[in-house]
Amino acid sequence: MKYLISKIVSILGLKNYDWIEAEISILLTDSRQLSNPSETLFFAFETKNNDGHRYIADLYAAGVRNFVVSKMMPEWKNFSGCNFLFVKSPLRALQKIAAYHRRRFDIPVIGITGSNGKTIVKEWLYQLLQEDFNIVRSPRSYNSQIGVPLSVWQLDDNATLGIFEAGISMPDEMDHLEPIIHPTIGILTKIGEAHQENFTSLQQKCLEKMRLFLNCNVVIYDEDNPIIREAADQMLISQKAFTWSRKQTDAPLYISKIEKGPCSTFIYYSFLSLDYSIEIPFTDEASIENAIHCLATMLFLNVAPSVISERMKKLEPVAMRLEVLQGKNNCILINDAYNSDINSVKIALDFMNQRSAEKSLRKTIILSDILQSGILPKTLYHRVSDMMIENGIEKIIGIGHDISQNSDVFAIEKYFFPSTESFIQSGIWRKFDSEIILLKGARKYHFEQIIALIQERIHETVLEVDLDAVVHNYNFYKSKLQPGVKMICMVKANAYGAGAVEIAKTLQYHRCDYLAVAVTEEGIALRSEGISLPIIILNPEVNGFEELFSNRLEPEVYNFRILDAFIKEADRRGITDYPVHLKIDTGMHRLGFLPDQIPSLIERLRSQKGLKAISVFSHLAASESWAFDEFTEKQIETLRSSASQIEKGIGYSIYKHILNSAGIERFPEAQWDMVRLGIGLYGVSASGLKGLKNVSTLKTTILQIKDIPGRETVGYGRKESLDRDARIATIRIGYADGLDRKFGNRVGKVLINGQIAPIVGNVCMDLCMVDVTDIDAKEGDEVILFGNDLSVIDLAESIGTIPYEVLTSVSPRVKRVYITE
Ligand SMILES: *Cc1c(COP(=O)(O)O)cnc(C)c1O
Repeated sequence: MKYLISKIVSILGLKNYDWIEAEISILLTDSRQLSNPSETLFFAFETKNNDGHRYIADLYAAGVRNFVVSKMMPEWKNFSGCNFLFVKSPLRALQKIAAYHRRRFDIPVIGITGSNGKTIVKEWLYQLLQEDFNIVRSPRSYNSQIGVPLSVWQLDDNATLGIFEAGISMPDEMDHLEPIIHPTIGILTKIGEAHQENFTSLQQKCLEKMRLFLNCNVVIYDEDNPIIREAADQMLISQKAFTWSRKQTDAPLYISKIEKGPCSTFIYYSFLSLDYSIEIPFTDEASIENAIHCLATMLFLNVAPSVISERMKKLEPVAMRLEVLQGKNNCILINDAYNSDINSVKIALDFMNQRSAEKSLRKTIILSDILQSGILPKTLYHRVSDMMIENGIEKIIGIGHDISQNSDVFAIEKYFFPSTESFIQSGIWRKFDSEIILLKGARKYHFEQIIALIQERIHETVLEVDLDAVVHNYNFYKSKLQPGVKMICMVKANAYGAGAVEIAKTLQYHRCDYLAVAVTEEGIALRSEGISLPIIILNPEVNGFEELFSNRLEPEVYNFRILDAFIKEADRRGITDYPVHLKIDTGMHRLGFLPDQIPSLIERLRSQKGLKAISVFSHLAASESWAFDEFTEKQIETLRSSASQIEKGIGYSIYKHILNSAGIERFPEAQWDMVRLGIGLYGVSASGLKGLKNVSTLKTTILQIKDIPGRETVGYGRKESLDRDARIATIRIGYADGLDRKFGNRVGKVLINGQIAPIVGNVCMDLCMVDVTDIDAKEGDEVILFGNDLSVIDLAESIGTIPYEVLTSVSPRVKRVYITE
């Protein structure tokens, strides 16, 4: 769908505005996702953490000519041929355009909200209804103030049904989303604690969410939930309700019985006084509820019960997350099994671009047929081909009948196969080498078979790292900073165990200002993976100059020995103004110049040209501890006066910084120019702050289970004799993986299927044993050593250490797996 810029001007109600006519098909909110500049309208959002106006010059250089802005910059004066649509809020402008677009379609639109299950219900409805409708739906979980308008913008003349989800985290947000989705059918999934921070109660959140339904013809919800029922009554929504209940026989949809089998569930129901049943290939509670919501929706849309039951049997799980895996032969694999519609291809390509900082990796895609109703295959694959070129993909492997039929539209290295089996038989995957490979296939193509062949063999003990949580935590701390304060992210010790390269790529994409590592080798490793951010080396060695200079790494200078050696080396190489960071010892007594050495330091700096001090900093010894606040204040004061003494002495101003994670949480007045975020980025608040997300989950599997009679002992040294007959599971992790021996003999515990199991006996090198007598567990089950539900803080405490040590102890042989939604 294309809009003339004159039309957009009139939708936004801009008066007296001289435009240069243009055709717009893309609404862009993230400059990194630019694809077709001439048809792009860019919205410059100003948020606490970022300002879209900063990217306009680059976008202009790339060919974009249409911008929605809330301020004008002098440097845009010379930009010719541009439209700057000046509005108070570019976000509201985006929403207004989407709402206008929505009104042009007189089709049923399903609006889904709730705390959990929105994306699953949306995707399942798509699976269940795609034979009856041409469906446009939100890609992945695009349900925010920005995601919703971008989703609705995809509606075009072919669409016969829209399915969109709406998520809110603040009161009032729904009032902006309602006119954009303007649903005719509403679905309220579960109401739970997610995103509760900004609401006073569950009731209030429920009422807010229901504002999505004010103009619906029908609203579907669970009548047994009292909070939902009362909110519906209060909003007068119950009058147009199509509810389901497991208790009320007179509910429009009465669920009379639920029968769980080993791998499927039978749901018996009555509708319009007749009894039916469906079978779904899931057994968990959440899936059952999600399926009932879909059932109600289908009944309302007059789909015959026999058809419903046929399709429900074939429901497929929804892959919500992308995985980054290590491949064989120096390949990186990005596995995205989320539906292979064209929008999700675009999103996966954007993600791939984020990860491919390393230029020497060629970009390859393995793509199945794209399931897209309503577009001619030729047109569809032309669009895919354009995307490949725009994103620098060098090789495509197409799998499926349709994509093979359209092989001629692709103008890059290409291979086509009718099926996954024929691709595997061809053996061409053996030749993958130094490539970043995106696997994007509809579930029925079973790309997991390909993954199994090209993935580096992994020991089943993995550290799963949630990159979205890292970004959340980064933004969380960023939002606590005064505007303009720079963020240094600590990625030393392999990013506190999480994996420095992937964490650094993520931070670079999210425009962090600086990185810091402990030793030169860590900095070199980041440079060789394409990290171009400035990197501080905290503990440089005198003999590592060559590599420091050639990799543009910025050393911390902490005493005269290293300062003099640096000056000499810079001189010898004819380097001037090489960036360094001065460390002052204000009380930690580890590294740094003492305050009384500052006059000589100044003198030394003034008498040379090789180095330039970029910043002066110090490290707090006890920023997390109330008991030492007076000491901390003194450290802060010492750095403040040392810094001003240095600035005066050297005659130019330099950045000042002292706060680590706990410091950011507790001493906002000392933010100055920069802060250094460490453990908080990885989800641990030293001062007990709420609102961070868990980043790392250490998990493994059960190898063997056996029944051992009481009074027997388990493991080396016969440390513990059982006081009863017990079931003992042997799990695949030991102290060589980083599991501390102190966790042995019931000090530590693990989580299996959500239940606690104590570690018995001594921890071995590669294995350990846990007591599963009282819980459900079988061989092959997943075992969690730490993560969201087993906090690394408590774990550390139980063996008298700190979370830093537990996180950084996870050994390199434990594979890191990165996930993102
Ligand atoms: C590790 C480190 C930090 C980060 O500390 P956290 O407590 O993890 O936030 C900051 N500054 C220096 C000098 C460090 O060595």
